[in-house]
Amino acid sequence: MANLTDLGVAAIRDGVREGTFSAREVADAFISAVTKAKGLNAFIVETPDHAIAAAEEADRERKHGNLRPLSGVPLGIKDLFATKGIQTTAASGILEGFEPAYESTVSGKLFAAGAGMLGKLNMDQFAMGSSNETSAFGNVLSPWRRNDGGNAALTPGGSSGGSAAAVAARVAPGVTGTDTGGSIRQPAAFVGITGVKPTYGRCSRYGMVAFASSLDQAGPMARDVRDCAIMLEAMSGFDPKDSTSLDLPVPKWEANLSSDIRGRRIGIPKEYRIDGVPAEIDAVWEQGIAWMRDAGAEIVEVSLPHTRYALPTYYIIAPAEASSNLARYDGVRYGQRRAPENGSLDAMYEATRAAGFGPEVKRRIMIGTYVLSAGFYDAYFNQAQKVRALIARDFERVWAECDLLLTPTTPSAAFGLGEKMDDPLAMYLNDVFAVPASLAGLPAMSVPAGLDAQGLPLGLQLIGKALDEQGLLNAGLAFEERAGFKARPEAWW
Ligand code: GLN
Repeated sequence: MANLTDLGVAAIRDGVREGTFSAREVADAFISAVTKAKGLNAFIVETPDHAIAAAEEADRERKHGNLRPLSGVPLGIKDLFATKGIQTTAASGILEGFEPAYESTVSGKLFAAGAGMLGKLNMDQFAMGSSNETSAFGNVLSPWRRNDGGNAALTPGGSSGGSAAAVAARVAPGVTGTDTGGSIRQPAAFVGITGVKPTYGRCSRYGMVAFASSLDQAGPMARDVRDCAIMLEAMSGFDPKDSTSLDLPVPKWEANLSSDIRGRRIGIPKEYRIDGVPAEIDAVWEQGIAWMRDAGAEIVEVSLPHTRYALPTYYIIAPAEASSNLARYDGVRYGQRRAPENGSLDAMYEATRAAGFGPEVKRRIMIGTYVLSAGFYDAYFNQAQKVRALIARDFERVWAECDLLLTPTTPSAAFGLGEKMDDPLAMYLNDVFAVPASLAGLPAMSVPAGLDAQGLPLGLQLIGKALDEQGLLNAGLAFEERAGFKARPEAWW
């Protein structure tokens, strides 16, 4: 039998259903892969008992012929999702030891669909970062290495860095990620996997540690488009506990997958051709355009004139919302507390937050409180909201000319650890192609496209109309069939 950890979500589901292997065998194989891959630091907490219990349940269900959509599939869950009774930290020291009394809607839906949990995945602290280096639990290592023999340690991207590393290293067949300004798509591109950020409101944010509430969205990361479609179906759906959750039925994305995209118009936005992007990124983009044309799509040059304001707009709005959301970590309600002896209440707040938050989180809180302060609110926050509306309008207009957009996911391949930590602006620049779709709330995905000269994965991004996840996934499938991306990192861990 093939190595069970080589199988993705669909193959595991089908194999368990057909009795090719038991769910318990699958769980055991992934649990031992998790143990072997400890050196990647992809998990903050391992939960083998959870995966085993779900697998045994799946094997019982099979006997009675009542398997659920994800029975027998063990998943990794990003540590941003509250998991009942299991430590949930958002990779921050301030939440160390916090065991939620409730389950996030998204993880709860996955478990209700039969999935088990291998563990909680490492990430950038409070999902703030693009390299997983802001985690209080140490950075994640990408399973990929450059082909120059130098063995330089690379980032798996962020903030869903543990999620990306786990899938690429074949330690989990699928994982949850979250995307506020690219945190599903950028890490997916860096490690050569597929990641989907659905339309804002498709997945409930209940129980997802809040970063920037008007942008935060959960989504799947897995090896291919089908696996993402299966997971997204289980994760989506209306939730009365989240006021921004969309009250719409969940489409049958997997059943309606089709790579027939003949006649679809794919827009190539000229503003995404920016200076300083390596020629290899342009080349892979050209290749992607050729594949889509080959699939029968019509390629059209389009313009999204406000694109260049997206990054500064994002880095005003996201920190503003974060500064407000993170006010709740006061040492009283959750996690860690530092109380100086005979100190005042204020001294307790100060000591708790000074010790508990990492430097990037503090930077965001300071930027956020500044742009929201009485003297600067109009100049920054209000202005950013207006620009956000213009960016959203760019997309609304462009849909008259095309059905989807194809762009690079990131302006570079994965970079080395430490390379950008001293330069926040260089780090923020990583999100340049990802944030416009986030600000507009549109569904977007990254699909692996090829390897660069150093042997590292490059991804391309597809952006769809609001609620057109089907069109997005179908274009992703057509792309995937032509790209035939099979590369995987050689195991050194
Ligand atoms: N890298 C971006 C940031 O640091 C996006 C993070 C995210 O999507 N959670 O804010």
